Amino acid sequence: MSDLATVLYPEAEIRRRVAELGRDITVDYASRPPVLVSILKGGFVFLADLIREVDLALRVDFMSISSYGGGSDASGVVRILKDLDHDIGGEHVLVVEDIIDTGLTLSYLLSTLAARGAASVGVCTLLDKRARRIAPLDIGYRGFDCPDRFVVGYGLDYQERYRNLPFILALENHSGFMEDPAALERFLVAPA
Ligand code: 5GP
Repeated sequence: MSDLATVLYPEAEIRRRVAELGRDITVDYASRPPVLVSILKGGFVFLADLIREVDLALRVDFMSISSYGGGSDASGVVRILKDLDHDIGGEHVLVVEDIIDTGLTLSYLLSTLAARGAASVGVCTLLDKRARRIAPLDIGYRGFDCPDRFVVGYGLDYQERYRNLPFILALENHSGFMEDPAALERFLVAPA
């Protein structure tokens, strides 16, 4: 389709998979409506679609984090920029992520949430880049096994752009984007 990027997950495939995940969560949490926690910003598009596929009296809450060392801190320790609005003591928490890569950030966050006395802490991720996992994680709900490629769209950004693509692209030419982050803008043009 392009030498810059290819569509890895088309819109219809994402919609179908999100509906399946929503049905699974509805069954598994029927007796204990969960609090879905989204990590800003990447996870918000997935969360918005997922909650409309879950037929339970769930609640949502948000956290925003930033890594201390500017990205590649092997401890995964993060600074919480925006914390949850509500106490999660005794709650069944389901963390909803866009993508899990090394897993370091998430494993740190999970221990933080568990230490606050949550009754349970589960994980739902749209994309799982298993090949790059460093921190072992128990992932209850996974949309797709993602190849070891840099992906954008459906909440995932490249330099804060392209979160609004309704599909997910894999970048073919990373250095091309370093030089020109606007290079994918033609994917934003609606079909005639
Ligand atoms: P990790 O699992 O390595 O601690 O970090 C996961 C975070 O890295 C994700 O929440 C996301 O922000 C970012 N990330 C990892 N892989 C990708 C990717 O392919 N595309 C984008 N846009 N972000 C990614």
